[in-house]
Amino acid sequence: MNFHVVTLFPGSLDSYLKTSIIGRAIRDKKISVKTANPYDFGMGKWKKTDDRPYGGGPGLVEYAEPILKTVERILLKTKAQKLKPRIIIFSPSGKKFTNEMARKWAKSGKDLILISGRYEGIDARVKKILKAEEYSIGDYVLTGGELPAMVVIDAVSRQIPGVLGKIESVEEHRVSSSEVYTRPETLVWKKKKYSVPKVLLTGHHGKIEEWKKKKSKA
Ligand code: SAH
Repeated sequence: MNFHVVTLFPGSLDSYLKTSIIGRAIRDKKISVKTANPYDFGMGKWKKTDDRPYGGGPGLVEYAEPILKTVERILLKTKAQKLKPRIIIFSPSGKKFTNEMARKWAKSGKDLILISGRYEGIDARVKKILKAEEYSIGDYVLTGGELPAMVVIDAVSRQIPGVLGKIESVEEHRVSSSEVYTRPETLVWKKKKYSVPKVLLTGHHGKIEEWKKKKSKA
């Protein structure tokens, strides 16, 4: 599955994309993540990508044209594909992104074009022209859409078969727990003892699943 991130700060994604499960998924070609920078289509001699908002107010707004041209370039490259890419714009006031969507998008196999805003956001005409869906990753305001893009890439990727390793992959097929333990059985910290719940040591599969079910609802 292919992700295309439209961002003025492509470098901000680098280290996460190299790390652990996502890094491995890229190396194994289960996913690809490409960045495209609207700066390449910046306006005028100084390649400006933002300007003051109409109607006044604080900050700067990203120009529509450099972003539209960037997306057009991506669409041109993906034209040969049967499925049209899904175009997503990030905004704190968008629809809430959920794991259910991550599952659906992974299953569809469609390329995702993830448009990350900066400053006060992107000229609203971009959304209209591209008929893009607007998504928020939560009720807080970030300085940019790169983390939201990374959140979507991460959540979608782990739903793609083969991205999670042998041990991790089983997770989707059993009750996952929000409370997990590993060695040692009894942890001693500042003279106090902290033990693993006994049920997990019984080897009784049924009882363990029941305990996990109870925990995951808590
Ligand atoms: N003035 C804007 C905030 C812009 S935040 C407003 O009030 O709506 C700058 C950029 O960060 C946004 O364009 C978006 O791409 C990203 N962003 C910030 N918070 C976000 C969130 N919770 N979910 C998704 N994107 C977010």
